[in-house]
Amino acid sequence: MDKWHGFLDGQCALRPNAPAFSDTTGTRWNFRDLSVACEALTAELRSHGVEAGDRVIVLSENCCAAVAALFAISRLGAVAVPVNARMSAAEVNRILDHARPAALLATTGVSEEAAGHAVRLNAVPCEGVWGQLHLALPYPSTPHDDPELAVLLYTTGTTGAPKGVMLSHANMCFGGKTSAQLRDMTEEDVIYGVLPTTHVFGLASVVTAAIYIGAQVRLETRFSPAKLYLALQGGVTLLSAVPQMHALLMQYTREQGHESLQDCPLRYVSSGAAPLDPDWKRRAEGFYGVALQNGYGMTETTAGICATRSLIGDPDISVGPALPGVEVRVDQDVEGGGAGLGEVLTRGPHVMLGYYQSAEETAKVLDDDGWLRTGDLGRLDDTGMLHIEGRAKELIIHGGFNVFPPEVEAALNAHPQVVQSAVVGRRVQGDEQVLAFVQVADGDEPDEADLRAFVADQLAGYKRPSRIVMARSLPAAPTGKILKHKLLDHFAPQLM
Ligand code: ATP
Ligand code: MG
Repeated sequence: MDKWHGFLDGQCALRPNAPAFSDTTGTRWNFRDLSVACEALTAELRSHGVEAGDRVIVLSENCCAAVAALFAISRLGAVAVPVNARMSAAEVNRILDHARPAALLATTGVSEEAAGHAVRLNAVPCEGVWGQLHLALPYPSTPHDDPELAVLLYTTGTTGAPKGVMLSHANMCFGGKTSAQLRDMTEEDVIYGVLPTTHVFGLASVVTAAIYIGAQVRLETRFSPAKLYLALQGGVTLLSAVPQMHALLMQYTREQGHESLQDCPLRYVSSGAAPLDPDWKRRAEGFYGVALQNGYGMTETTAGICATRSLIGDPDISVGPALPGVEVRVDQDVEGGGAGLGEVLTRGPHVMLGYYQSAEETAKVLDDDGWLRTGDLGRLDDTGMLHIEGRAKELIIHGGFNVFPPEVEAALNAHPQVVQSAVVGRRVQGDEQVLAFVQVADGDEPDEADLRAFVADQLAGYKRPSRIVMARSLPAAPTGKILKHKLLDHFAPQLM
């Protein structure tokens, strides 16, 4: 069976001198450099008693050293557990307790947050990778017995506490290869690596895909629209981002008066990991000058399930057909289902092994025939395109009618001063209220009454929010995805 790090070994054998990864510390590695850094780290981990099957946390923000850590762990036969260093001490501790890693590597070279965790966890500087990493040894070695387990990856935590997803070497290889092929990647591509390598989109669709094909990745530690704008002028050919990043870039370019990108080699742009707003798609395509492809996937499916191959200006906001080798069907026999709409199920080589240490949770979503329940509500049209309406958990049933948050969010986002929004339901006396949280731009801010009037033209009465709370920022994951389950607590004072 192929191993995940086999992609790196292959590039090292064929094109050792080809540019591979660069980062914000000024490090520039070809594939041989990356491999040499991995070897040193593998040896260092082994010298501390880390064995095949042990979990090793990579507490990181994007940098070359983080990539080396991931592949060093894979080469050792251990299980990489990518965790974003921007998580709080309590969030990191929860994962430590759950994964019980024999080692932890922190990217202290690029991240103050990682450095803070390193101090707290008594980590010491690593010998390899020139002081870019610190090492801690939290638990004794307790190897997991499945040699196929490559990565333990925690979900975003949009709907609750993050879940530990077990991805196999075969999952990672399939995810990387499919992502590269979908994007027609070549070894000439220069990919902007701003999606955290701690999330499946950055890990499988960017880093693993790039190593599979031999493209180069410019790793960016922190997203900023200004840095992205500069990078796009500087030779980037391929950009993958979450919708919120595209929206923030559009906001920035509008403020700066940049209408569109000129004379740049950008050839492929994708959006994924959260619903794509039709208006954002239209504006972004006007700016980038290429189609904004919409990819649908989840941690449990090693990134991709479906993706569009649409042309610029296509108003369709579907997530496209199933990826090659992937099956999709819709189960209408669920709450909120019927008339073609139902829970999306998927089967194929992208589906996880299961949730770590939780056979019960795994059994709830994965059946004996290999079908995974995604928890998303969607419909397949007669051309085989999948349309995601929203998550089953987030469906709001108000006065007996179904309200899908992405539709209400799109209506709010159409306001020129709205940067992004999040809509959730709140149970009140046997019904559910529609609540909206809106991030507004500096300047001529709308008030609640303005926004209420604005959406009244676009939405049927039962879909209109009963409250619209304005904010400068919304609680978000390190990818930029909004953490919806935190909204009600976070804005409790404004909701009184
Ligand atoms: P948690 O499972 O912890 O609540 P999460 O589901 O947000 O968090 P991820 O695995 O990062 O964790 O996200 C997968 C989910 O993101 C999908 O189930 C779906 O709801 C949503 N999603 C991903 N891509 C798209 C897309 N293109 N359009 C609409 N929704 C999408
Ligand atoms: Mg999920």
